[in-house]
Amino acid sequence: MSTKLKIENINYGYIDGGYRREILKDLSYNFEEGKFYTILGPSGSGKTTLLSILAGLDKQESGSISFDGEDLDKIGLYKYRRNKIGVVFQAYNLIQYLTGIENIEVAMLETDNPMPKNQKEIGYALLEKFGIVKSKAERLVTHLSGGEQQRIAIARALASNVDLIFADEPTGNLDTATEQEIISIFKMLTEKFGKTVIVVTHSNEVSKLSDHRVFLKEGKLVDLD
Ligand code: ADP
Ligand code: MG
Repeated sequence: MSTKLKIENINYGYIDGGYRREILKDLSYNFEEGKFYTILGPSGSGKTTLLSILAGLDKQESGSISFDGEDLDKIGLYKYRRNKIGVVFQAYNLIQYLTGIENIEVAMLETDNPMPKNQKEIGYALLEKFGIVKSKAERLVTHLSGGEQQRIAIARALASNVDLIFADEPTGNLDTATEQEIISIFKMLTEKFGKTVIVVTHSNEVSKLSDHRVFLKEGKLVDLD
């Protein structure tokens, strides 16, 4: 088994009301390839902050992170975001005035990874894998349910042909039945396609289905099992 993402002694804090508050403290962790991780922890413990740093949207103050053995600084955060990872958000964050398939096509343009010539067909096929048939893929995303929008957002995260997916509370806006459907998609990504998936959640239902449950406690990640 190889390590997909290696975090070594990272620190991060915010200046708040004139004094500094440490959020991540000498945090180290190895995320292994092909596994489904959930990160749990109380509200305000720093889960979103951690995910932002792991996804290259923000930078740790000290310590290092490497992807497939290469330091993120060496890859460059812009290239890392563009070519190595995908992110799924609680509020889906799709482009509202586009259809599902158009959202996927935009994502395919926003990468340096080699893309197939028949992008549109590949896009439809990708959406179909996640239960979005062609007629739905051609609808404005605002005319789809929350669960359907999140399926498109997951397909979009994968459209640039990446193998590491982050999600921050991806089922936070969904009902329990839809939550189960979305989580089974994340599980399928690891089991069938060998992707590495890291999901922040406070749902026990979600974490139960993951391979590794990790708790963010006092600025560090601790294995729950
Ligand atoms: P979680 O996702 O676990 O709820 P966050 O990572 O969003 O936690 O936030 C951790 C703590 O850092 C919270 O107390 C939050 O208010 C604070 N925080 C988050 N972003 C900022 C910021 N830009 N400036 C100052 N404090 C922040
Ligand atoms: Mg959060």
